[in-house]
Amino acid sequence: MAIRISHLGIAVKELGASESLFRKLLGDSNVHREEVEDQGVSIASFKVGESIIELTAPSRPDSPIAGFLEKRGEGIHHVAFEVDDVESELRRLESEGIRLIDKHPRDGAHDMKIAFLHPKSTNGVLIELCQKK
Ligand code: ZN
Repeated sequence: MAIRISHLGIAVKELGASESLFRKLLGDSNVHREEVEDQGVSIASFKVGESIIELTAPSRPDSPIAGFLEKRGEGIHHVAFEVDDVESELRRLESEGIRLIDKHPRDGAHDMKIAFLHPKSTNGVLIELCQKK
């Protein structure tokens, strides 16, 4: 079961410009920057209440987010639900007939274990499950 919305991932072409925009929108200069080598992304995160807005830009041309930007342009990329145990949630959802992108959790941003569900089984929305390490 999801505990809360951990973050919203927004795909952006250029992190610097989007970071300035979100500083204006949120009136907050407290930005956390992070590189996730594994996924080929650079991230700028803003805390909003209990959740995070995560601006995500490609850090290399073959990054999956680069493919997303090419196909769909900038915009909401994924919704992340925090759960107690990603592995057991994956098994539960798989048994409910939900298609998984990740069969097992891997390392993500914010020191979390993460896994993605396939948007074809979730109303076209890419959903990430995450769990604090
Ligand atoms: Zn995410």
